[in-house]
Formats: sequence, structure tokens, C-alpha cells
Amino acid sequence: MVKTWSTPVSAEESRLIPCNLCGGSRFKPALKCEGFTYVRCARCGLVQMNPQPSAAAVGRRYQDAFGSDYLSYELANEAAFLNLQLLALKDAGFDSLEKELMRRTVEAPRVLDVGCATGSLLLHLQSRGWHVTGVEISPAAEFARRERGLDIRSLPLEENHFPPASFDLILASHLIEHLNDPGSFVREARRILSPGGRICITTPNIAGFQSRLFGSRWRSAIFDHLYLFSVQTLQALLTGAGFTIEGVYTWGGLAAGAAPPRLKKIADQAAKRWGWGDVMLLRGAPCNFRPTEV
Ligand SMILES: [Zn+2]
Repeated sequence: MVKTWSTPVSAEESRLIPCNLCGGSRFKPALKCEGFTYVRCARCGLVQMNPQPSAAAVGRRYQDAFGSDYLSYELANEAAFLNLQLLALKDAGFDSLEKELMRRTVEAPRVLDVGCATGSLLLHLQSRGWHVTGVEISPAAEFARRERGLDIRSLPLEENHFPPASFDLILASHLIEHLNDPGSFVREARRILSPGGRICITTPNIAGFQSRLFGSRWRSAIFDHLYLFSVQTLQALLTGAGFTIEGVYTWGGLAAGAAPPRLKKIADQAAKRWGWGDVMLLRGAPCNFRPTEV
């Protein structure tokens, strides 16, 4: 199992915020972890770290605290991460989607990978004929630019002010759970996607088998994850921003060695059959309406 990167818990200013999905302000306890707490919105069910550190404090983690350790971690796990991302995309029908987008665009289809780390997925897609751009706020961006010659933007997505319809595909793998304002992220993604474009968001699944089994010891209940989505809450976030959901895919019942083989087998089957996987990918396409007019 690939180890999840986590910044050590430190004292940061934090405040109680309204629910990012529905604006609600009534919460029930969800997970009590060491040094931070997740609550569940009483109205929509979104699990969130609340009180939550400010966007400025979170931004500083990725720029300063991560430092060169984070780059070493990404480089050490690069092949494993790329392999997992390719498997996830394959499951989500990437092959036929790629054909469709290659046919539809006169020049190369344009992909944006948000949270692209060292850019290994972008390099792979570039070799397949895509026009590639990345967004990465950690020091990995500089590596991807310098060593790999990739076009990487170091500002959060919304601050890049890409023109409307700039991309045919937006990928965000293990990114959205780190953001202070995931609602703003998906609305911006909707704005900069071309008509007929697609978005693929991969994130841990709090309604999955491992989360149910491990509770606050779940490997994704970490300081850097400000939100823990279920299929239902991520779907609601995307449809609220003007997306139609094309597919929901989940994987991973239990990691090898985490439980006796018989339990692992049951968990893996349940994950596939009922969407109880530890990680999920939602694939969406922009609807024909403008979300601000709804
Ligand atoms: Zn809510």
C-alpha cells in the first residue's frame, strides 16, 4: 500500500465555517482524530474538518512545510502513483473518451491536470498526443517545469484565470479533499471546460469499507484532508456546479495485510458490487445550462 503523505499537525488559525456544499451550519460529530475533528453536515451529510484552518494557512503548508521532503516523497512513489492513476482512468472508460476527444478536436485535445505533482501523468498524456497543462502549488511544480519542460502553473486553479472553454479534459486526482473551497473549484472547472469536455475527480470515499472499518484511524482521515466525500456528496457538489454525472467508479476493499484473507476477499467484492471502494472516481460532463442562471 502506498503511504499517504501528511503534514504534521501544527498550530494554525482555524474557524468554524458554513457547510461548503449546502451552506448549512448545523453539524454532528463524525471523526475525532488527534489534533483535528471532522463533523457531518446535518442537512447534506458532507463530512468536513470544522473548525477549519484558513486558506492562507493551508497554502503555506504546501509551499513551506512540504518543502523538499514532499518532492522526494512524490519522486519515490512516482511510478506507483502513475500506475494507480492509469488503472483508475482505464476503469472510468478513458480509452473511448480519448478517442472521442481526439476525433472532436481539430488540433490536439487539451488536458489540465490539477494537483499534477511532478507531472508524470502529463508526460504520459503528452506522448499520446495531448496538449498538456498542469496546476501544482507545491515545490514539485518547479521540478516539473525545469526537469520535464512542462507548462505548470503554480497558483490555485481559480487564480489562473484561464479563458472559458480552455480544456477538453480536467483531471484532479487526490486533490479536491485538500481544498478549502471545493465548490469554487468545481464551478471554475465547469467554466473552463469546453462544451462536450469532461472532468474526472478521484478522492477517498468516506462511505467505503475501509472508512467504516477503521473510523478515525482510516488512512484518509489525515490533517491535510479538509473534506471527506461520499459518492452522494461529491455527486451533489458536481451537479450543483452544472455537471451531469457520467459514471461512478470505486476500488479497493481492504489493503493486503490489513485484514485476514477471508475478510479481505469479502471486502473487495463488496467494494466492487456496492461502491464501497476506498477510493472513488466520478466522471462528469458539463450540462447545457449555465449554473448561475439556475
Ligand atoms: Zn451541508
